[in-house]
Formats: sequence, C-alpha cells, structure tokens
Amino acid sequence: MSLVDISPPAFDLAVALVYATPDNLTGRPFYRADARPYLRREAAEALQRAIDLARPLGYRLKIFDAYRPVEGQWALWNANPDPEFVADPRGGGPHNRGVAVDLTLVDATGAELEMGTGFDACTPLSHHGRIDVPLDAQRNRLILLGIMTAAGWEYYANEWWHYQLWNARDYAIVDQKTLPHPPMP
Ligand SMILES: [Zn+2]
Repeated sequence: MSLVDISPPAFDLAVALVYATPDNLTGRPFYRADARPYLRREAAEALQRAIDLARPLGYRLKIFDAYRPVEGQWALWNANPDPEFVADPRGGGPHNRGVAVDLTLVDATGAELEMGTGFDACTPLSHHGRIDVPLDAQRNRLILLGIMTAAGWEYYANEWWHYQLWNARDYAIVDQKTLPHPPMP
C-alpha cells in the first residue's frame, strides 16, 4: 500500500483541509495544522485526470479532505452519527481506505464556485439533482460531476462534494499510524 501526497506543486490544485481548522461540523480541529492530503495511487491518478479536464475550462480543484484516519471518522461520527452523511467508523468508509475525496471547483482567481450549500452541509439541499438551489449552483455541480465522472470517479447522491473510486470496497482501511499526519490527540 502506498499513499501519494496530492499537495501542490506536484498536483495543480488548491488545498484547504477543513478538519485541520475549527470550521468543520465538529467545531474543532482534529487534524494537525500541518496535515497534508493523501490518496492511494489509483485515486491520485484519477484525480490527475480530473485536474487535466478542469484546466481547459478555467477551473482548478480545491480539496477539503482526502484520506481520513479512522480516528478522524470517529470525531465526525460522534458529532453527527447520521449514516446519510457520515460513514460509521466501525465499518470504515471510502475516506478511511484512501480512495475518496471531498472537493469543489475554484475559478482563475481562486474563488470557490457557487454550489448552493457549503461543504458538509448535512441537509437535503446537498443532494445531487436538486433544482431548488440557484441555477448557477445547479450548473456548477453538474460541471464538477461531469469532470469527476469522466475522470473515473463515482459520485455520492447525498453530497455534491464527495467522490470515490467505483471499487472503493476493494481497498482495505489504511492504518493511520503509517502516516506522517495523525489526527490531534
Ligand atoms: Zn467525503
């Protein structure tokens, strides 16, 4: 098993790991401030394809989370034990397997595109296929959906920001102790 650091400049994208800040649904950071985003090699390759598809459109990807240690999954689950939006840490989710990414699109100035809700907004408005979010948000969600799907990712119906490899369950949970960025104690 090898995880790839998907930080720039190796990957032409923006990174804002929300779980390294208090601005997440638990209200406090559970990653270290210097945490970096990692994916398994197959997922990193799919992410590169998405970067290449977004670039001619004038967009870049902005990563909110990628590989997530199981301890981080517990932090989210304890704050919001709703399986519609958070994978049960006992089974582990695709983030814990290193094959899922949470992201949005930014324009040439680095501004996030309008997506109708914020990241991790656990409401039905976060679902794909909503026609009751602003038209710009509908269009931007579909652009992200098209880029990611064409690059080989599977979407998740409940969260416009979450993508994972189609065969996520084929991958084992990644032991966070092997990584340089364990969550905060
Ligand atoms: Zn996710």
